[in-house]
Amino acid sequence: MKEFDYAIVGSGLYGSVFAHEALKRGKKCIILDKRNHKGGNIFCENVENINVHKYGAHIFHTNDKEIWDYVNSFVEFNRYTNSPLANYKDELYNLPFNMNTFYQLWKVKTPQEAKDKIQSQIEKLNISIPQNLEEQALSLVGVDIYEKLIKGYTEKQWGRKCTELPSFIIKRLPVRFNFDNNYFNDKYQGIPIGGYNRLIDGLTKNIEVKTRVDYFNDRKFWEEKADKIVFTGNIDEYFGYSEGLLEYRSLNFEHQILDIANFQGNAVVNYTEGHIPYTRIIEHKHFEFGTQDKTVITKEYPQEWKLGMEAYYPVNDDKNMKTYNAYRERSKNETNVIFGGRLAEYKYYDMHQVVGSALAHTKKIFNA
Ligand code: FAD
Ligand code: UDP
Repeated sequence: MKEFDYAIVGSGLYGSVFAHEALKRGKKCIILDKRNHKGGNIFCENVENINVHKYGAHIFHTNDKEIWDYVNSFVEFNRYTNSPLANYKDELYNLPFNMNTFYQLWKVKTPQEAKDKIQSQIEKLNISIPQNLEEQALSLVGVDIYEKLIKGYTEKQWGRKCTELPSFIIKRLPVRFNFDNNYFNDKYQGIPIGGYNRLIDGLTKNIEVKTRVDYFNDRKFWEEKADKIVFTGNIDEYFGYSEGLLEYRSLNFEHQILDIANFQGNAVVNYTEGHIPYTRIIEHKHFEFGTQDKTVITKEYPQEWKLGMEAYYPVNDDKNMKTYNAYRERSKNETNVIFGGRLAEYKYYDMHQVVGSALAHTKKIFNA
């Protein structure tokens, strides 16, 4: 008999949901995280009484009532609706692309006028089946929006030309012919009241969590302590990079406390020009309708990922997917290890998808 049924590597959403579900079935778990806190990328730090999203803006959204009810059973969510703005050459445009954006760009007032305008731009391009992000974007919204609101932002975010990126990335954004600035189409959306740490605390209640512990520093020790390992870190690192390095995008966050109550009047403002080194400025208090005297803002600077840096976004292009598939094949032989989450599955997962995937996985493992 080993001391634990599961040693879970990573205290992000995947690891925490897994641990909660395993404990519910009477399993003994321990969670390890190499960072000095739990919560993975949804961790919030309290600064000036404001919940600062330390690893970038996180807005929970889902169409799945079961997932929404599940997260709400740990913490109540507020009615925050994400409606970011885009700043291009000091002009503001509403996102996602909708009638407000079309009016701001072309002064068109009706859906038909907007459709005609976009169609007139698309017609000239002769794109039948879009082969990459550039062609996908052009065939969805035409040249003006692509040039002003997509190209610069996307190329600095991903460090690659739009012609070299997969089209699915841009399909995340809705295009609407009404005046709805809601960034998401999902039925449910919000921010945990009091911040995301409450969600993680609820999920990991009664579970031992060890921070500042890197699994790779003492792999044998943890394998001897637990029957099974749940691994939510980088899959290429798990296999000693034997199939090659996977590429990720990293970010540098520059946080600032300002001695004013309201900096930009909105939680998220994107800067879509390629020469501005950051992609967006987040003003955290607006996620929770904060009325504090001060404010905290964060600029997000995208970076190429190098060994030793935090990996934030998988780069799911053909080359990397080939490498990932080689690791995936190898993972099938690791019968005592469960791989899950954004890094171990090398997937551009949103939070609800990570929760859904961990719930589905545990249901399968525990047969209920
Ligand atoms: P993570 O949260 O990355 O957790 C993995 C954990 O494993 C980390 O804490 C890490 O320290 C730990 N770990 C790794 N290796 C080891 C090791 N060797 N030993 C010990 N510990 C280890 N989703 C949304 O739904 N809405 C959003 O608005 C949104 N915005 C985002 C913005 C940014 C900038 C980013 C990067 C992501 C965003 N996401 C958003 C996605 C969301 O963050 C993820 O889907 C989710 O947090 C992933 O959870 P996870 O458990 O898979 O991974
Ligand atoms: N995007 C863009 N302009 C914007 C916002 C987003 O071109 O103002 C593109 C960009 O390629 C980005 C993708 O849409 O990577 C998805 O955006 P989302 O806001 O979903 O990105 P995330 O929150 O995951 O960083």
